[in-house]
Amino acid sequence: MSDHLMNTYSRQPVTFAKGEGVWLWDTNGEKYLDALAGVAVNGLGHAHPELVRVISEQAGKLIHVSNIYQIAEQAALADKLCEISGMDRVFFCNSGCEANEASIKLARLYGHNKGIEMPEIIVMDKAFHGRTMATLSATGNRKTQAGFEPLVSGFIRVPFDDIEAVKQVASRNSNVVAILVEPVQGEGGINIPKDASGYLEALREICDAHDWLLMLDEVQTGIGRTGTWFSFQHTNITPDVMSLAKGLGSGVPIGACIAKGKAAEVFSYGKHGSTFGGNPLATAAGLATLNIIEEENLRANAEKIGNLICEELNVALKNTQGLVTIRNAGLMIGIELDRPCADLVKIALADKLLINVTADNVVRLLPPLVMNEAEAGILVQKLVALIKTFLNTKS
Ligand SMILES: *Cc1c(COP(=O)(O)O)cnc(C)c1O
Repeated sequence: MSDHLMNTYSRQPVTFAKGEGVWLWDTNGEKYLDALAGVAVNGLGHAHPELVRVISEQAGKLIHVSNIYQIAEQAALADKLCEISGMDRVFFCNSGCEANEASIKLARLYGHNKGIEMPEIIVMDKAFHGRTMATLSATGNRKTQAGFEPLVSGFIRVPFDDIEAVKQVASRNSNVVAILVEPVQGEGGINIPKDASGYLEALREICDAHDWLLMLDEVQTGIGRTGTWFSFQHTNITPDVMSLAKGLGSGVPIGACIAKGKAAEVFSYGKHGSTFGGNPLATAAGLATLNIIEEENLRANAEKIGNLICEELNVALKNTQGLVTIRNAGLMIGIELDRPCADLVKIALADKLLINVTADNVVRLLPPLVMNEAEAGILVQKLVALIKTFLNTKS
């Protein structure tokens, strides 16, 4: 590994050379099952032929111009995103943290426009919103923040899945302008509210009562991962603002901040921008991703395969000492153990399986949305053996 890379990642000792569907091959020709999808990015799996065709053709025509000009691919993707979300306007950027930065700026401007000089945003314990200054300040994890003080102010933290705590803030604080929340916490450990739709619906009600914006961070939960285009579509509500990234471009960097109604009219000329944001290549990749998810029925597949994996894991790991719970929202799957299990990443790699561990003791699976039943079977078989051995030897 090069000495010229900053030490921000602890990297596994493997280099991948190519991929196809849920499979990856390293530079020695060894084959791996990918149950992480580049952290919820490669929803279509690797080297999807239609995506490769669209990206190649677009690269041959136009990669970048500037937002100073009309961009047909960007307009088409904005139309499609609004059609499938029921929202009104999109701002394109290049990553999840940038999408959340846009949401945060939008909320502050919304506040200022109605005379609130020091607007505040409610955020959650164990949330993850990114690594820029504002988004790490909104993140509910001290490890992400430590060393980067002074943090950006204007965030009020409450426990996740606790409506009473939000109501208490509402009763004593008149500077609040928005709530920023992940429908399912990803980095925080695949945390699903006890009553997932009830939670979002209650937050919607509080926002309506106080004229706050409900802002959903769907960077990880969006683009089919939980079985619907967006996680909020399991409920009866629509957010005012939603941030997307990860799966949207299938690996071509793209983020989006999408707004509805009054929130869609907050940004005016000159209030926000991005050089690369929404360029022809990234937006062509985004549009192709959405079209392929639709044509191949991958939302339904995510729900079916996610539930199948969890059922099979539950059967195979039943009464296993050290297993706490298995939970999922479509193909966002968390297997919580009673002890730290970061070592499982390396152990699985040796068994040619790519997984992730988050929140110290939660095995996290984010397989490509294209995974089929046979591949899910291989995943379960490998994982059950690995977890059982791990729990037996590390007790
Ligand atoms: C990954 C993630 C982010 C940050 O996205 P980047 O593209 O790494 O900036 C923000 N929010 C959530 C919920 C995420 O999962």
